[in-house]
Amino acid sequence: MKKHSNDGKLKLVLMGPPGSGKGTQARMLCEKYSIPHISSGDVLRAEVAAGSELGKRIKSFMDKGEIGPVELITEAIISYIDKNCPAGFLLDGFPRTVYQAEKLSEKHSPDTAILLSVPDEEIINRITGRRTCEKCKSIFHIRTSPPRIENICDSCGGRLVQRSDDTAETAANRIRVYNNETRPVISFYESRGILSTVSGLGNSQDIFMSISRIIK
Ligand code: AMP
Repeated sequence: MKKHSNDGKLKLVLMGPPGSGKGTQARMLCEKYSIPHISSGDVLRAEVAAGSELGKRIKSFMDKGEIGPVELITEAIISYIDKNCPAGFLLDGFPRTVYQAEKLSEKHSPDTAILLSVPDEEIINRITGRRTCEKCKSIFHIRTSPPRIENICDSCGGRLVQRSDDTAETAANRIRVYNNETRPVISFYESRGILSTVSGLGNSQDIFMSISRIIK
């Protein structure tokens, strides 16, 4: 498999259902390969928090785990990539639809797509137990990887919160949206010969090693 684009920049798309561990792996991979971590969810949550026009338009969709005004969001994320990624990127949560994958290819064609595969029954458990640091975005799980002190981030001492869309009801909707809208993106990258699948089950360090072997 071709690992890097001709310009030597690593352009990586990390795919997988919500709760598959994309955020955790993204942080480790970005540190190793010195590329920016572009989480479309984080970019959009920041828009909502800032009360921007885009934020106001998308808040209700995000609360329900839905995709919302796809063209507007696609344009916002691609212009974010334009500004912040002169030397490669890791995309997490984007592209989420085939339309987004096509638009991304026009300007920033990825060279590797990694799919973290996790069964549906495991996902609900992971999402509902997830706690995220509101400061540095580190991710914990109340049962499988709890912080040393309850509700306090081990890395930066920030407060751990449950994302408003990490409830059982919204999680079910997010999985449905993933299956309907995002699964076709897997075939999109498969047909371009750049997709590799890695099991998202087990120890995060082992999963990281498996992904690193694919990227090299
Ligand atoms: P995430 O943090 O990736 O789980 O995303 C949280 C929410 O942000 C999703 O449920 C969507 O409402 C919205 N979102 C994130 N990325 C995208 C995207 N690429 N396109 C549309 N909506 C998105």
